[in-house]
Amino acid sequence: MSKAKVNGLKILTKADICLIGLLVVIAVGGIGLGMNRLASSGSGALTAQISVGGTIKQTVPLREGYRQEIQLKNGDHYNVIEIVNGKIHIRQADCPDQLCVRSGWIGIATQQIVCLPNRVVIKIVAAENDLDDIAR
Ligand SMILES: [Zn+2]
Repeated sequence: MSKAKVNGLKILTKADICLIGLLVVIAVGGIGLGMNRLASSGSGALTAQISVGGTIKQTVPLREGYRQEIQLKNGDHYNVIEIVNGKIHIRQADCPDQLCVRSGWIGIATQQIVCLPNRVVIKIVAAENDLDDIAR
């Protein structure tokens, strides 16, 4: 009885080793790909699309050392947008809810700040090269 059990275990172990080996190879490969993705998206290849009423008015790069202030006017309304070192926020606005100002800083792809009353949307997108990579 005990002998059969030991044999059974040994067979199982051999099969397991093969399976684990295969899984490790797949896992390591997957992690490698993931790291590349992270590295390329963290290399400053991000841009912020600033749109008013659904039309993109301005596209600004988000990267270290880049600084810009944008006075966005839409009729009687205004939003003051500030870009510093790869992050963007709305510093000032005349909207009644001030939700956009309170949204704070964003700096990661797909994040966005919306100012509904002024119809302003700031959206962070990966640069075109990265989008191509993901599509492939
Ligand atoms: Zn607002």
